[in-house]
Amino acid sequence: MSLLKRGIILCCLILSPITVAATPPSAPILIQGAMDIETTTLINALENKSQTTVGAWTFWQGTINNYPVVVSRTEVGIANAAAATTLAIERFKPTLIINQGTSGGHDPQLQRGDIVIGKTSFNMGAYKSEFTPKGKGIDPTQWQNFSVTMRLRDQGKLVDHNAFYADQGLVDIAQSIASSYKKGKVVTGIIGTADEWNREVDRINWLHTNFNTAVEEMETSSAALVAQAYKVPFIGIRILSNTDLHLQDFDPQTAVDCQQFVLDYTKKLIMIRN
Ligand code: SAH
Repeated sequence: MSLLKRGIILCCLILSPITVAATPPSAPILIQGAMDIETTTLINALENKSQTTVGAWTFWQGTINNYPVVVSRTEVGIANAAAATTLAIERFKPTLIINQGTSGGHDPQLQRGDIVIGKTSFNMGAYKSEFTPKGKGIDPTQWQNFSVTMRLRDQGKLVDHNAFYADQGLVDIAQSIASSYKKGKVVTGIIGTADEWNREVDRINWLHTNFNTAVEEMETSSAALVAQAYKVPFIGIRILSNTDLHLQDFDPQTAVDCQQFVLDYTKKLIMIRN
């Protein structure tokens, strides 16, 4: 082999990794689920998988149709969801965030297996009460939702949030694939988030009447708050896994069905982006 040829081959060997590294990969789509049953189907769909754990939170990096996707197991509740979302944004710089999983029905029109695309989500468990003197009792129906717990600084100014809005473009695309879901209806609605699991039907009806909640669950608005702080487009997608309005108990298969819908949705997003 001539010296020139060897030189060219050597050059290519040295240059090729640099060339690859110089082309930044697309920012990943981040998909969140709280529990193993809400993430396993997504993780199984990833190609070229690798796994990272930071503190208590695990992330699976991989690809779907050659596009980078990170699946995050946030664990249950608002503190976990905020921590996992912050870590994911700092580490993986996602282009958008999908928070998905199970939920309990508040809207009597909805049955177990139906899917709610959250046009907004809010912290349903944040309350303030008016002063009442000793001996006057406790009356949760008089408590008011406390938006101050969702205050964020935006360009130096404090902004109170009664709710966080999903990215409208992401909502439109989710609605465009609604008819492909065969296990129930797909509707848009309001997601109420709290470290609560409400089973008193009068309370569920009270929440629905006062806040127009479609479902309750324990993570969405908390992840949405962090996404809003970093200005990352966000959408919450929740399946009814249970609804005491129709005496339908928790069915774990719904967690799988939700992930299947989210996989179809993710493939649609990737198709549009490519
Ligand atoms: N059965 C689980 C605990 C589930 S905690 C265990 O023993 O580990 C509730 C989780 O399910 C949360 O992540 C929440 O988002 C979701 N969820 C489903 N239905 C709910 C409901 N009716 N109320 C509140 N959260 C609900």
